[in-house]
Amino acid sequence: MKKNKIVRMKILVLNCGSSSVKYQIIDGGKLNLLVRGSVSEIGSEDALFWQQRDNGSEVKFKSSILDHEQAVQQILDSLLFKKTGILKDISEIFAIGHRVVHGGEYFSKPTLITDEVIEKITECSQLAPLHNPPQIKGIEACKRLIKGIPQVAVFDTAFHQTMPDYAFHYGIPYKFYEKYRIRRYGFHGTSHYYVANRVAKLMDRPLEKIKVITCHLGNGSSVAAVKNGKCIDTSMGFTPLEGLIMGTRSGDIDCSAVLYLMKHEKISAAQMDNILNKESGLKGISGNSNDMQKIVEAAKNGDERNQNALDMFCYRVKKYIGAYAAALNGVDAIVFTAGIGENAASVRASICEGLDYIGVKFNHLANKQTIGTEAVITKNDSKTKIWVIPTNEEIVIAKQTLDVVYHINGM
Ligand code: ADP
Repeated sequence: MKKNKIVRMKILVLNCGSSSVKYQIIDGGKLNLLVRGSVSEIGSEDALFWQQRDNGSEVKFKSSILDHEQAVQQILDSLLFKKTGILKDISEIFAIGHRVVHGGEYFSKPTLITDEVIEKITECSQLAPLHNPPQIKGIEACKRLIKGIPQVAVFDTAFHQTMPDYAFHYGIPYKFYEKYRIRRYGFHGTSHYYVANRVAKLMDRPLEKIKVITCHLGNGSSVAAVKNGKCIDTSMGFTPLEGLIMGTRSGDIDCSAVLYLMKHEKISAAQMDNILNKESGLKGISGNSNDMQKIVEAAKNGDERNQNALDMFCYRVKKYIGAYAAALNGVDAIVFTAGIGENAASVRASICEGLDYIGVKFNHLANKQTIGTEAVITKNDSKTKIWVIPTNEEIVIAKQTLDVVYHINGM
């Protein structure tokens, strides 16, 4: 097939969660977003379907959608709707890119999905029991419903596979790494990859010659140290629990405190897992919410625990920036992205206070004026630049899906 025919075709990007499927159709030429949408509350008679076209028109309705296959079928049907759809024929979909959370040590790059690949993703489900299984369901559904269209898996963990062994190993007996592959994997890889590439472009610097610290601050948050385009360390670990304080996750904590609590509160491993992942972080500290906007608001109104949660969040990010500046032996750019990183100017300002030792001259006015857009928030003579860059994981998935399929077709 000729490349110019392919570029008129469309890529379907799917992000399957346990009870939702998010999707986008991206045009294969300019990589523009054409349609996005979601099916949520899968498994219910009242599942919610939502779709928005590039011209702003929206479709919303409730319908009985009992499993992921029905969700994918509904998405395909709606893409063909006469008035609001975007496709005349399903064959316009050139390839499907799937977000897959955990690729373990098997996958360090986007990969064409075969039966063998599905087997390995299934094996990695042990490491991500909440995430990989619904993503496999999405892959299987596409296999059955749109036969013959190439599918590509893009892994959250892949970008971090370049970490050196001294960064990814934990200080526990080596046999546990050998037996269970217990190590740091890191997550949000597609987002860190995107903003690290983007900042090099914006600064007109070759990616191979730039040291970047990328801060993905959303409900889940992580920081990565990226040297010459390769990840050398990241804050999330064996699971997305480690590192920063997050909406409901504790981040770093002394394991002995966990054991102590289990003993004295007589709680099971499953209960402790729930506390650390769902009841901790901003929510656990503030007693208010996991939502940063609400925490900022309550802190502004003088609530001490919310202020404390905010201070802890910012301090932890600042500590990681310092650690990664050391790991990188200096830093050219720091990037903020995701919900908090893109929108919360006051949080960015707190994190960046006192970074003059690494050559940061913060521009408070530019920072205040930057909400959800690409902008530099340091002064012109700042040696280290700080950028806000909205993340775009779907574009990366679409682009990498195209690259894999072009390559396989020998183009
Ligand atoms: P997810 O990890 O679920 O993709 P997002 O990247 O959308 O999450 O980030 C969600 C977080 O961003 C929430 O804590 C939300 O409160 C926060 N956020 C969004 N806008 C603002 C804002 N203007 N000020 C403070 N926090 C914000």
